[in-house]
Amino acid sequence: MDEEEVSLDHPRATSLRIRAKLAHGFKIGITSAFGLFAHGRGEAFDYLIGEETTKNSTRAIRAAAASLLLARHPVLSVNGNVAALVPQELVKLAEISEAKLEVNLYHRGGGREEAIAVVLRESGAKEILGIGSAASATIPEICSDRRRVDPKGILIADTVFVPLEDGDRTEALVKLGKTVITVDLNPLSRTAQMSTITIVDNIVRVMPLLIKTAKQLETETEQNLQKIVKAFNNEQNLCESIERINNRLKRLAKLSRDT
Ligand code: ATP
Ligand code: MG
Repeated sequence: MDEEEVSLDHPRATSLRIRAKLAHGFKIGITSAFGLFAHGRGEAFDYLIGEETTKNSTRAIRAAAASLLLARHPVLSVNGNVAALVPQELVKLAEISEAKLEVNLYHRGGGREEAIAVVLRESGAKEILGIGSAASATIPEICSDRRRVDPKGILIADTVFVPLEDGDRTEALVKLGKTVITVDLNPLSRTAQMSTITIVDNIVRVMPLLIKTAKQLETETEQNLQKIVKAFNNEQNLCESIERINNRLKRLAKLSRDT
């Protein structure tokens, strides 16, 4: 089913449209089969969270925007899922935060990097790092292709935005002393637990808000941006996300007991 074919009055239209975007991404060779599984895990957690942007997501988005604006070498890491879902938003965020875009895949080869570069260019990107032999540096302690990075990008970055990331690479990036910002619907994942700032929300809802917030904060002083970052507590934020899921389940269990 194509995105346009999803009927507007279908009760799960939004979710189906997101699936259609990923299915299209798979068809044109930018999303891997493993990426589709990862989306399924994300969907399950979105269902539990209530498919909306929570207060703690808004807080994390604000800290993430401030962090990106403060960074000297910010990099936005692009994989097959985010390229299928939010390519234009990635390019916009890179512009506002003066960040580089770097393609970084779990499974390289088969022309996927190049196909992602085409989609990003069509969305307005001028420079895209990490394609083919440009990913000539390696970061330690990961065994997948994700260890390969661009010496002009992730290797020298102080702040990396790695939405829908794998735990091993998150850990490696944190060990290298980088500020790691992620978007992950699963507050229990290793990525969510290990990152500096975790936005527990759907990437599709996050990107427009992150762009808007970065625009709002653009004129703030460095001092004020630092204050926003310092006031943010990732551990507490993750606990709130888990509590939210817990409370929703308790409420639903009570409802079904009472009926
Ligand atoms: P980890 O390796 O961090 O322990 P994992 O192995 O469970 O996590 P991965 O496949 O490595 O999962 O990473 C994908 C992550 O992205 C999952 O936690 C999933 O919940 C999340 N995810 C998938 N789709 C979305 C989405 N649209 N928005 C936000 N998060 C998503
Ligand atoms: Mg993983």
